Amino acid sequence: MSTNKVSKELFERARKTIPGGVNSPVRAFGSVGGHPLFIVRADGARVTDADGKEYLDFVGSWGPMILGHNQEGIRQAVHEALKLGTSFGAPTTREIELAELVVELVPSVEVVRLVNSGTEATMSAVRLARAATGRPRLVKFRGGYHGHADAFLVEAGSGAATLGVPSSPGVTPGAAQDTLVAEFNDLNSVNAQFEAYPGEIACVIVEPVAGNMGCVPPGEGFLQGLRETCTANGAVLIFDEVMTGFRVSRGGAQERYGVMPDLTTLGKVIGGGLPVGAYGGREDLMRQIAPDGPVYQAGTLSGNPLATSAGIAALTYLKENPEVFERLERRGRQFEAGIHEIIGEGNYPLSWTRVGSMASLFFTPNEVTDWGSAAQSDREAFKRFFWGMLARGIYLAPSPFEALFLSAAHTEEDISDALSATEEALGEVFDGRVA
Ligand SMILES: *Cc1c(COP(=O)(O)O)cnc(C)c1O
Repeated sequence: MSTNKVSKELFERARKTIPGGVNSPVRAFGSVGGHPLFIVRADGARVTDADGKEYLDFVGSWGPMILGHNQEGIRQAVHEALKLGTSFGAPTTREIELAELVVELVPSVEVVRLVNSGTEATMSAVRLARAATGRPRLVKFRGGYHGHADAFLVEAGSGAATLGVPSSPGVTPGAAQDTLVAEFNDLNSVNAQFEAYPGEIACVIVEPVAGNMGCVPPGEGFLQGLRETCTANGAVLIFDEVMTGFRVSRGGAQERYGVMPDLTTLGKVIGGGLPVGAYGGREDLMRQIAPDGPVYQAGTLSGNPLATSAGIAALTYLKENPEVFERLERRGRQFEAGIHEIIGEGNYPLSWTRVGSMASLFFTPNEVTDWGSAAQSDREAFKRFFWGMLARGIYLAPSPFEALFLSAAHTEEDISDALSATEEALGEVFDGRVA
């Protein structure tokens, strides 16, 4: 367990006034035990905690920091914006610039609305899909995360036609009853819902590369199949690219896999580390949003000057330096080759997934293709691995079901260091070796 004294004291203090001491649950280290590290600063590929210890970071603020921490262009852009005032509640030029960048970079997006988080983006996109189709139900995938709006906090019972039941107290059966659950990478389970509820399904919302059950790539033909099913049934296809947007390629998963959704939700990278979300897509759909149309959605701080300045700086960098994605791919391949060498032919009961700069080491020997296979991960083994990595200066997400993120700031040497640490930590976990 960690001996980080200052972080421990801060956590005890935080718990008195903040639920669980954190403002987002997974930060609390609940699935690995102990207490979280309080971070005081971050630069490039490294974070420094309140005890002054430095770690090589593979969390990347859970996705946004694709250019590394404290990136110069973003920092300068925010500095410049700050001089002019922090919020106006009136239109600004920066909002147009960010919207234009999104429309230029994300292939299917013609018109886009800026919001403040991924959650706002997904709940608004679903509202729009329901309004446009006049239908109540949505299909999501088991293990798929789309933020914390009521309709998404649903677990399925068994069987393809099971109605959603709320997976959090406070979500009413009414809010959950229109949420249908299918299995990721299983088109039959999606088609079964369309057969069970003909003319009632407004949309299918999917993480085109699942990132919240660990990184789970879409199988051959899965996204294309969703496209065809939605088109055939008059339903809206929503790609939740909050994690994959500007990450798995410059134009997101839709560009990487060549499948176009009707609506796209964005977050994380789009804000360059500040709170920005967005939803956009086909013009005929987006024109139904107020005040062009009747579908209401608003935000006091939406398009905030500081947030948009950071987002513009991040997206402009990605636009002007497309080689960043080649670099991320190279580092990803290096990481992958090293992991394959370590876990070898059944050396360890582990499996590995990767799409570009998103990856996961699953603590199960079986191939992971959906939530059922991801959930077979050995949580105790992961826990020991997590602490073994932390002891070696490697900061991973404190959950077996979170992806690992590479950034443009990770060097070849950083990846080598992470691989050495991985080899030692796995030796400890599985062979009882003490390095
Ligand atoms: C992070 C995430 C969200 C929620 O975004 P917030 O900004 O945390 O509200 C939604 N969908 C996906 C795919 C995400 O990864």
